[in-house]
Amino acid sequence: MKYILVTGGVISGIGKGVIASSFGTILKSCGISVTSIKIDPYINIDAGTFSPYEHGEVYVLDDGGEVDLDLGNYERFLDIVLHKDNNITTGKIYEHVIKKERKGDYLGKTVQVVPHITDAIQEWVEKVSKQPVNRDGKLPEVCIIELGGTIGDIEGMPFVEAFRQFQFRVKKENFCCAHVSLVPSPKSTGEPKTKPTQSSVRELRGLGLSPDLIICRSEKPIGNNIKDKISNFCHVAPDQVITIHDLSSIYRVPLLMQEQGIVQYLNERLQLSVRMPLPIDFMNTWGNLAERIDHLRKPVNIALVGKYTKLEDAYASVIKSLQHASIKVGYKLKLTLIDAAYLESESKETDPVAYHQAWQNLCSSDGVIVPGGFGQRGITGKIEACKWCREHNKPLLGICLGLQTIVIEYARNVLHLKDANSTEIDPDTKNPVVIDMPEHNQGNMGGTMRLGQRATRFVTTVSTLRQLYGNPEIIQERHRHRYEVNPKYVEVLEASGLKFVGHDEENVRMEIVELEGHEYYIATQFHPEYLSRPLKPSPPFLGLILASTGKLKSYLERGCRLTPTQFSDNDSDEGSSTEFYLQNNLSEDLLKATVI
Ligand code: GLN
Repeated sequence: MKYILVTGGVISGIGKGVIASSFGTILKSCGISVTSIKIDPYINIDAGTFSPYEHGEVYVLDDGGEVDLDLGNYERFLDIVLHKDNNITTGKIYEHVIKKERKGDYLGKTVQVVPHITDAIQEWVEKVSKQPVNRDGKLPEVCIIELGGTIGDIEGMPFVEAFRQFQFRVKKENFCCAHVSLVPSPKSTGEPKTKPTQSSVRELRGLGLSPDLIICRSEKPIGNNIKDKISNFCHVAPDQVITIHDLSSIYRVPLLMQEQGIVQYLNERLQLSVRMPLPIDFMNTWGNLAERIDHLRKPVNIALVGKYTKLEDAYASVIKSLQHASIKVGYKLKLTLIDAAYLESESKETDPVAYHQAWQNLCSSDGVIVPGGFGQRGITGKIEACKWCREHNKPLLGICLGLQTIVIEYARNVLHLKDANSTEIDPDTKNPVVIDMPEHNQGNMGGTMRLGQRATRFVTTVSTLRQLYGNPEIIQERHRHRYEVNPKYVEVLEASGLKFVGHDEENVRMEIVELEGHEYYIATQFHPEYLSRPLKPSPPFLGLILASTGKLKSYLERGCRLTPTQFSDNDSDEGSSTEFYLQNNLSEDLLKATVI
């Protein structure tokens, strides 16, 4: 097993995760099987109780692990399936060591950070790196480990010390360290500055780890003179300095790293036995994809009606799934994030401008998505959005809470059950059309939901989604919810046209709903966004984009194939694959066009 440790310097948030994933992508293109571990040095056991406002979305794995959204990057970049143990937190390590202490495993000893915590980290990494992550069960050969935060953080210290020891435990040819650092170009000087990188490399060395690669992140391309300077001042050879400036899409990151000789370097350093020279078509799929994204022009306007609209990361996988689908259909995604609360009639009084703006955005979109969510705020606005789409034949995809709001809206406005609600919102409603699942409600908030991969069985062949999935009887998707559609109401809802076309294996839980006679009014209790891949868009998202561009019917008639002419009117265009519009939001520059 070979290990590549990716550390960060100067500041966080400069794309360490994307760079770490890109290492994997490149190696995978060499035919090497890759796994990854993300280390988050916080004390939480997992990301399950995080606020999307602060950390972005909670990413869910097949095994029900609720993890950092970076694991999503790895799964999408490498097309692998990770396990909850691939996300290590300080909380998990301490929990493990404390359990052992209680069992008496350290009898007579004082349990300390060094060696007990650091040993536990090393053992965990060694064990998890050997678990297969491909559907074919092949054992990984290289493990990419991303250490969250930046070098010097107090929380990260035990991990850095663990890897200082680890490099000797696994031997030099099996371990290397890539340090991702920032090279800023302050306006006042107008030129790239290497000092921050120099000091963070010095700090890393002081802790006993020497960088084998220094990956310099910058806004603009960095010239060779700066590269040489970093090589000189940080005591590494010039081929060990890799520069990555801001790019039109993140698909270009592995390509740029590859161009700078990463394969050659790692091949020698880690004795990888990749045959050289690399084939002419090496990483062509990525190159083609990046080209295609840069040349998308026709827009498809999608409105995302959500609650956490201030932070794009809160809907990271949903947005990426929309992008994957748009790229496949040949459209440039124009996404508007609408704060559901502004669609509610009260905001007409409190903030009329935002209210009208929100409705204008909703009405002028080509398609709407109501993603997952929790709690009361914005629910009424989401219900309003569902109603509008239903009545105006506007394509709508509801996910998890989005399915529940579709059901509530239908019960209220079509079945005339005026107080229909979810018990999450109103525990005393007379018409609980959405109820909690008793076995998942144990009073605790962490890890007590219906989580992870579960089967959905289509109960009819009359289903748009079934066709989009390629007509299987059973599909597997990931879940994260506490509430479900009340089976008592299914019959009356179905009788008036809202069909539950997919159930769980036990035939009690409603998984997919489709409205009869509507262009595309579909919702899933599962979260399809976690399994979308750049080259394999998730079917519910693909359906939404096809319906929003008026192509769904012909696509289905052609046996789920796009017409060859579809891309021809996409003239070349500079710029990113996605444009974001945020209502009442001033931080558009935060919203980089990230695709994977
Ligand atoms: N709050 C709802 C539930 O727990 C929906 C959850 C979600 O959208 N992920 O069932």
